[in-house]
Amino acid sequence: MKKIVVITTGGTIAMKYDPVTDGLVPAVSGTDLLEAVPALKRVASVEVVEFSNVPSGYITPAMMGDLAALVDKVAERDDVAGVVITHGTDTLEETAYFLDLTVMTTKPVCITGAMRGASDTSPDGSGNILAAVKTAACDEAWSKGVLVVLNDEIHAAQEVTKTHSTNLKTFASPGWGPIGLVYFDGVVMKRQSLKLQKIRPPRLVDDVHLLKVVAGMDEFFFRCLIEKKAKGIVVEAFGCGNVPLPVKNGIEMACQAGIPVVLATRVHAGRVAPAYSYPGSAHSMKEAGIILAGELTGQKARIKLMLVLGITNEPDKIRTYFDC
Ligand code: ASP
Repeated sequence: MKKIVVITTGGTIAMKYDPVTDGLVPAVSGTDLLEAVPALKRVASVEVVEFSNVPSGYITPAMMGDLAALVDKVAERDDVAGVVITHGTDTLEETAYFLDLTVMTTKPVCITGAMRGASDTSPDGSGNILAAVKTAACDEAWSKGVLVVLNDEIHAAQEVTKTHSTNLKTFASPGWGPIGLVYFDGVVMKRQSLKLQKIRPPRLVDDVHLLKVVAGMDEFFFRCLIEKKAKGIVVEAFGCGNVPLPVKNGIEMACQAGIPVVLATRVHAGRVAPAYSYPGSAHSMKEAGIILAGELTGQKARIKLMLVLGITNEPDKIRTYFDC
């Protein structure tokens, strides 16, 4: 039987209702989590490693770096066939993408969570752990990048996003769909991402900010970030990469101050593209040195920029990492 290591980090999957504070709080250990899924015994031999037990809003990029190192260390063991990580769903897609870019193992790495706490009616955590372990134990999951497994769907880390604040069917890959499904008797993979990429910087630059563009926005936040000498800015623009004129000015001021600016879209599917040439379009900011994020959401473009800035802060070199 294959050995799968489950690394626990916390999240709703490890929470129970607390009558004193009237809400869910961290309460379940890694061992408790696995004991709640007796069916695991028929799928794999499972070992648990506790990394943390926190809501995923407490997870920092530095912790993601430590988690990546732990995943690689565990996956190096000859007796380990795959790794599963349990994580809160709020920032799950950011950790998944960080690991996708940094983890070196080709063994399956799956990440899962839950929308309902362990003490809720019909909790989804146990089914999600089972599905993630099944996927991690499956030969077809090798070399597929980090896989996000919830609600019996398997998604590629670079495509997936949380789409509903409470519904069990919350993780989706807009425009693409899941790469596979988990059934009671096995795993079916239908496609894979052709764009797997690795970025292994000697250090992480985390002073990188995400600004969402809204109607009537001015350059105020850009002035603040220039004054604080931020290391990078990601802008979530309208449509395929358009911004109001004052935001264009802010972006150009930041570029002139030597702060790399990456342009993503605030639209939930599709990529930024230089379709227009009017002032404020992605095309019109090309000369200033704007970097296009492709299909990445703002939060994932920020993760990538933090990693790339650990290697270079030259816009032309940064662009090569976003072009693929
Ligand atoms: N707030 C929780 C967290 O991300 C939500 C969840 O796990 O679903 O830790």
